[in-house]
Amino acid sequence: MSYVDEIYEKVVAKNPSETEFHQAVKEVLDSLRCVIDKNEEKFRRDALLERLTEPERIISFRVPWVDDKGQVQVNKGFRVQFSSAIGPYKGGLRFHPSVNQGIIKFLGFEQIFKNSLTGLPIGGGKGGSDFDPKGKSDREVMAFCQSFMTELFKYIGADTDVPAGDIGVGAREIGFMYGQYKRLKDVYEGVLTGKGLSYGGSLARKQATGYGLVYILNEMLKDNNKALEGQTVVVSGSGNVAIYAVEKAQQFGAKVVAMSDSNGYIYDADGIDLDIVKDIKEVKRGRIKEYADAKPSAVYTEGKGIWTVKCDIALPCATQNELNLDDAKALIANGCFAVAEGANMPTTREATDYIQEQKILFMPGKAANAGGVATSALEMSQNSQRLSWSFEEVDAKLHDIMVNIYAKVADAASRYDMPKNYVAGANIAGFEKVVEAMEAQGIV
Ligand code: NDP
Repeated sequence: MSYVDEIYEKVVAKNPSETEFHQAVKEVLDSLRCVIDKNEEKFRRDALLERLTEPERIISFRVPWVDDKGQVQVNKGFRVQFSSAIGPYKGGLRFHPSVNQGIIKFLGFEQIFKNSLTGLPIGGGKGGSDFDPKGKSDREVMAFCQSFMTELFKYIGADTDVPAGDIGVGAREIGFMYGQYKRLKDVYEGVLTGKGLSYGGSLARKQATGYGLVYILNEMLKDNNKALEGQTVVVSGSGNVAIYAVEKAQQFGAKVVAMSDSNGYIYDADGIDLDIVKDIKEVKRGRIKEYADAKPSAVYTEGKGIWTVKCDIALPCATQNELNLDDAKALIANGCFAVAEGANMPTTREATDYIQEQKILFMPGKAANAGGVATSALEMSQNSQRLSWSFEEVDAKLHDIMVNIYAKVADAASRYDMPKNYVAGANIAGFEKVVEAMEAQGIV
């Protein structure tokens, strides 16, 4: 049996029921076959893949807090410190009822390669909780965040592990956690990113993942003799990534006609009015269906189905496995020619394979959404230097980083005779740097 197949079998056997983790490992290992097969003897002897697929450390803890009725609630908290080969652990915290160890491990594993692609010195980690901030009062969210940080603070630090936001963790949650960290440690350091601008946050961090997605999409289109201007775009989700992907796509002259949340989607033939979406989602913390009340040209449809909307370009920006094989078939039947993943692993394996077979341009999340973590690393640099860069400065650096990621991904794909296979290119380019660092540092 090949080393790759052997490792995949071991990962499944050693981590039963962590299906999303298995999926992420399989996708990465499959596209690394050509690199691993060439070095099989050496990698086997060094147990390179065993080390790469086993987190350096998993922290799992209890998070008790008191709700507004005086009832004690208990959630699970996690931090997976996956790989510090190329820098301190870096990756977001997700607060969502679906969170479990397998989901955090899949996200942490993906993060290793994504962070490597940015070219910045950051290792891979991820964390979170099954806590659901939706429908909670600010006081309840603060109580939860303070309790979560009361345990987590022991394991993180500006030079060891620097968490950020993810689903359910935005500026409010980061603020409450940062306040509690400072109170417990009595140091003012850049231990979290995505902070508010008044206490060490970076301009353009909020926009970074969505903007970065559109910057790399634009590079991919240009390289394939296409342009974003005038294209019809569908963006799933209406959170942080989705909103700023829409903003940048509109700035490039695209027409975005649909967005969604976990309840349903809106279709607006006139093009999405993003001010309305921002007011609903960023100010009122409301539901996407309220858009149709505010904009007569829009239609709201309950449930999934956003991928049946006709478009040229699809940007899945909500969550994992939200775009399945049927969705991919519907998109392509409607003329979609490019997909770029704003979310982490939003496209199922079957859908990804189908999209690639059909020669549709496809940029995987670990390259396409790396602008968020890259700008988090820029926030870390500003904190260390006690400086704040302008919006334009950060945005220009983000743009350069995304252009470079595209170049690295396209180059790796070509070097291994798989031109335009950006899934393989992203995995190979990310892997090469991590492996070099692991080999140099000995058996650790
Ligand atoms: P937000 O919490 O801001 O928004 C998430 C959006 O996705 C919401 O509209 C939410 O709807 C929807 N959503 C979440 N879960 C589901 C689900 N199970 N089914 C359908 N819709 C769902 O998160 P972000 O925008 O920050 O993150 C979105 C994705 O991007 C995630 O995969 C995340 O890991 C990834 N990402 C985020 C980065 C960042 O900088 N924030 C960086 C890199 C990747 P509802 O409100 O109804 O739950």
